[in-house]
Amino acid sequence: MRLLLVEDDEHIGRALQTGLAQQGHAVDWLQDGVAAELAARDGQYDAILLDLGLPRQDGMQVISHLRRDGYAAPILIITSRDEIRDRVEGLDSGADDFIVKPFDLEELGARLRAAHRRAMGRSQAAVVHGDIRIDPAARQVTRAGLAVSLTGREFMLLLHLLEHRGHVRTRAQLQESLYNWNSDIESNAIEVHVHNLRRKLGKDLIRTVHSQGYVIDNA
Ligand code: CA
Repeated sequence: MRLLLVEDDEHIGRALQTGLAQQGHAVDWLQDGVAAELAARDGQYDAILLDLGLPRQDGMQVISHLRRDGYAAPILIITSRDEIRDRVEGLDSGADDFIVKPFDLEELGARLRAAHRRAMGRSQAAVVHGDIRIDPAARQVTRAGLAVSLTGREFMLLLHLLEHRGHVRTRAQLQESLYNWNSDIESNAIEVHVHNLRRKLGKDLIRTVHSQGYVIDNA
């Protein structure tokens, strides 16, 4: 997933960015509420992880501004304030979930997947397409019951295309879903990943739409 992490504590922020990247996510990290709101409006994030106590504008304001304007992506509050009042206020103002620091990265990963699944309107954890089956939690892919080995980026790209089945995704959109701000991206990176996915999962899986992008058609 492409994630926006908003956390002003240097130590926690760095640890979270690293840990989430190890789980295969592309994470942009910001440290104040105003920059966070601008980035959220500007980017295509699958979810936002938001601390409440932030410089310039607190997390609760970020949520209410974004939701007021129809911002739809899941927002998970991460905070050390564990009072019930904050929890209720956060959820009422439009957050999707609440996780109290210090927390377990595995648990955060699971809550992110659950929030994303709900946002995509999926009730099942696994994503199935023909004889291909993806388990986002285990980051495993099988085809006709046999394990297929994918790199982290190939996995993210496959999942992204399947979650947007039937809709052409441009190269820019795919790039944005896979790489954070700090990434050095080769200009043909997406083509290379698509090539590898076709090689591993069948040449007809991903269709090139001339001068537009790529699509996985509905099975
Ligand atoms: Ca804080």
